Amino acid sequence: MATIICSGGHSFSDGEIPSPYEWTLISDINLGDALDKIIGQTRAGADIEAQAGVIMSSYGHIAYICPECKRLLVFENGIENPATSYRRE
Ligand SMILES: [Zn+2]
Repeated sequence: MATIICSGGHSFSDGEIPSPYEWTLISDINLGDALDKIIGQTRAGADIEAQAGVIMSSYGHIAYICPECKRLLVFENGIENPATSYRRE
């Protein structure tokens, strides 16, 4: 669980599972690769239910939408590095 602080100074927790603020952004190319991996593991008999979310996340970027100002924070270089912030027009 972490406290996320948007560039507008608002803070919120990502501790709720599933989090209403967390998103996974996946490019079209990576989405196809992630689905291929999930399908492949399912056909191999793996219990994919627990792993599907992890696989999807590993092919995309974690992002949060601030509940106060609706800024989109995209962690393109991992959650341990600063996010790129996008504000609604
Ligand atoms: Zn905010």
